[in-house]
Amino acid sequence: MKVSLEFLYHFRCDRCDQWWSIADIKPQIGSDMTCPHCGHINTVESIQTFLEAAKSSCLDKLPDPC
Ligand SMILES: [Zn+2]
Repeated sequence: MKVSLEFLYHFRCDRCDQWWSIADIKPQIGSDMTCPHCGHINTVESIQTFLEAAKSSCLDKLPDPC
């Protein structure tokens, strides 16, 4: 069996607060992303990794470090 990794980036619109996802294409800091729900043009300010996100989530145990 072969296993492959997919990077899935989640975006949340600053105006309507709805989410959408794009796989494998890393967004660039400072680039513009148009919300597919309301059409608002958002600017990418930072990319939060899974490890950073897990620290403030309800997970009991952080994933193993890379
Ligand atoms: Zn929106």
